[in-house]
Amino acid sequence: MASTETDRTDVLVLGCGVSGLTTAIRLIEQQREQGQRRVTIWTRKVPPETTSNIAAAVWYPYDAGSNERAVKWGAIAYGTFGELAGAPGTGVISRNVLELLSDPNPDGPWWKASVPGVEHARPDELPAGYADGFVFDAPVIDTSVYLNYLRSRFEAAGGVIAENRTVHDLSEAFAVCDVVVNCTGLGARELAHDTAFRPTRGQVVRVKHNGFTRVLIDDHGPKTDPYAPGKLAYIVPRINDIILGGTAIADDITADDEVKQKIDNDEVQAIIRRCAALAPEFANLTPDDILEVKIGLRPVRSDVRLERESPAPGRWLVSNYGHGGAGVTLSWGCAAEVAEHIEAIEQL
Ligand SMILES: Cc1cc2nc3c(=O)[nH]c(=O)nc-3n(C[C@H](O)[C@H](O)[C@H](O)COP(=O)(O)OP(=O)(O)OC[C@H]3O[C@@H](n4cnc5c(N)ncnc54)[C@H](O)[C@@H]3O)c2cc1C
Repeated sequence: MASTETDRTDVLVLGCGVSGLTTAIRLIEQQREQGQRRVTIWTRKVPPETTSNIAAAVWYPYDAGSNERAVKWGAIAYGTFGELAGAPGTGVISRNVLELLSDPNPDGPWWKASVPGVEHARPDELPAGYADGFVFDAPVIDTSVYLNYLRSRFEAAGGVIAENRTVHDLSEAFAVCDVVVNCTGLGARELAHDTAFRPTRGQVVRVKHNGFTRVLIDDHGPKTDPYAPGKLAYIVPRINDIILGGTAIADDITADDEVKQKIDNDEVQAIIRRCAALAPEFANLTPDDILEVKIGLRPVRSDVRLERESPAPGRWLVSNYGHGGAGVTLSWGCAAEVAEHIEAIEQL
């Protein structure tokens, strides 16, 4: 091995957002006959400078491929967040969610098998202009707390994080470790030469808490707002603040580092107006209520890429990226599947 920082590493994880950290924790905490696995993260940036820190985040599988794998990953993550909910220092709480629909959906959401107790909303719960809705309990994850929790948990288990370590070619990683997990989010566009991404810009407004506790989600935008078509509206009350969203502007080719310059102040007012159409409690916000405006690129892809390949004899690459608007939602499920791949590789 060429580098002291990876001298004793069994697995090298690339990326330190929610995917990289959760995967690294799952690998380092896994009980094995051979003893504890040694895991190192190489990353360009660490929290709070990752896209994961921009996520609201509510458990909700948005724009990450509506398929059976997502249902399975989402169910595993739902269970793990349930165990973390309320534990001091995690930033995870449980909230009641009302998902709003403009058209009736008698079959229920495609992801209903992930979540126990999904029910239709009562008609009197629906704001004007909505035909249907689903009510369920789900985790809300304050990423400003949670990402630090993940980092501390990984380091407390003996994990090593090398920051400011941009990988330009996967051969750099394989030069020091035979087993590499790629969790670089949108960074995989260049690193894995992956052309299946559709980076989708999202903007949210963080406001002061006003006592509102229910999560409201309309992933198309309220019909009553003439400016809403194609725009999202969601209200995510966290522990200390509330996130109002949002936008989803596909195929944004802005570099990850430069997207902050695209904050749209008109859109701030439009987001507040869309959220006020869901809950009048947000109709009279003043500039003083606005704490922060955040913007980022969701790593939307045709579907999540989670698979293993062997680029050379004895070398293994596991990809875990492209989680769209659901990287937090799917995190523990995807990490569990990466761990299965790594176990299978170790048994060869
Ligand atoms: C406005 C907005 C709201 C959202 N809301 C939610 C929500 O409510 N719920 C939810 O589940 N999801 C939500 N998301 C989506 C979620 O943020 C992403 O799916 C998730 O952050 C992806 O995590 P990741 O770890 O894969 O990527 P990232 O968080 O982007 O992490 C990638 C890591 O890889 C590193 N990296 C990149 N390239 C390289 C390289 N070449 N070499 C070394 N390191 C590299 C980066 O520095 C970073 O550390 C939201 C996103 C946005 C933008």
